[in-house]
Amino acid sequence: MSTATSIVQNDLSSLIHPYTNLAQHQEVGPFVIAGGDGVRVFDDQGNAYIEAMSGLWSVALGFSEKRLVDAAVEQFKQLPYYHSFSHKTHAPAAALAAKLAELAPGDLNHAFFTNSGSEANDSVVKVVWYVNNAQGKPNKKKFISRQQAYHGTTVASASLTGIPSIHRDFDLPAIPVHHLTCPNFYRFARPGETEEAFSARLANELERYILAEGPETIAAFIGEPVIAAGGVIPPPQGYWAAIQAVCKRYDILVVIDEIVTGFGRLGTMFGAQLYDIQPDIMVLSKQLTSSYQPLAALLVSDAIHDVLVSQSQRLGAFVHGLTTSGHPVATAVALENIRIIEERDLVGHVQRLAPVFQHRLRAFENHPLVGNARGVGLMGGIELVADKSTRQPFAQPGALGSYLFKQAHKHGLIIRAIYDTIAFCPPLITTQDDVDAIFNAFGRTLDDATHWARSQNLL
Ligand code: PMP
Repeated sequence: MSTATSIVQNDLSSLIHPYTNLAQHQEVGPFVIAGGDGVRVFDDQGNAYIEAMSGLWSVALGFSEKRLVDAAVEQFKQLPYYHSFSHKTHAPAAALAAKLAELAPGDLNHAFFTNSGSEANDSVVKVVWYVNNAQGKPNKKKFISRQQAYHGTTVASASLTGIPSIHRDFDLPAIPVHHLTCPNFYRFARPGETEEAFSARLANELERYILAEGPETIAAFIGEPVIAAGGVIPPPQGYWAAIQAVCKRYDILVVIDEIVTGFGRLGTMFGAQLYDIQPDIMVLSKQLTSSYQPLAALLVSDAIHDVLVSQSQRLGAFVHGLTTSGHPVATAVALENIRIIEERDLVGHVQRLAPVFQHRLRAFENHPLVGNARGVGLMGGIELVADKSTRQPFAQPGALGSYLFKQAHKHGLIIRAIYDTIAFCPPLITTQDDVDAIFNAFGRTLDDATHWARSQNLL
């Protein structure tokens, strides 16, 4: 049996794929990725693809950064594993916590590590509940999120996620959470409404909900600075200022999920800096290690940390943790990853490249299938519609997006289809030539899609 055959056979017989139609998978088979170089990956036939999604919004430094490999190997030799339960520590976890505290805005000076973004957001829920119990506010437990928000797939984080398909048949949400209107200006602004007026209306919706429920029952608001997996949705003008003002008024914690936007994606180290957000908790993952190792972190403010300290004293310990919290190899890779982002000024690079990237992205708004092209920094979304003038979505949501996703492979491009919104989120090391290659290949894919849509009577 050749290696390729055995991969396919093993996959089909034994591997359950996340976010995959498992019945269809048995028919179409797996798409085997065998290697990577810079912003490109290769399949097992040797075909190259520009990875315009950085894997899952995460491979900041591309697919062949030797320094990250070396950092991992060095740490494997020095200390391949240790934990941080019961006062134990090791150099990379301690150094990374200090480095994140230095980089983060405000007084987010304390880091707790998990393996995935979902676990980090589950930990946020536990920390917020623990802190409010400690402060004698046992009823202040509800979370507020947004429709189309993505915060993970574990029980609490999936509850925070505002995408119906992620709840369906999983008996979710399983924690008290309310999802407010998605801040998608293109979709949900009223005719003639300005971005500021839309933001004010959404802040008003938040305030009305808080007052109806009772502020003493609402613990925290969670949001991504720019919604990513829910459709690449930048906030309308004034949104974060208006939302924060309401949260402050009613003693509601602000949790920022920077899992996609952290480490330069938007042209600032964090989205919080771009939108002037002063969070009480910030959640990081993905570009933290360029996903070469699984790692996520929540950073909490001095005030929250003070409560954790006093409550753990009262109860005997802070009884929360994972076997591999702050794994030495993962934290060593994160330190080297951040060192490279700083040394190469990749945040400045994104700032300089973003106008070119956004210009090429938005040029597609002239295309008959494109209703809206939007984005910030090196992140973009193109929303396809059946009728441009009425913004009418397709009767069969996701059919065209799915065609584009597959057809892009034929043009050497990997993109993501979020129903009929196509997402772009290339590695931070992307060059201007790569940007051209991405959008040239996408243009060819969109031409094919136009013919296909006509043949299927989708238009
Ligand atoms: N939050 C955001 C904003 C994300 O984009 C993701 C992953 N796409 C998560 C949380 C969950 O992270 P993970 O898949 O590592 O659990």
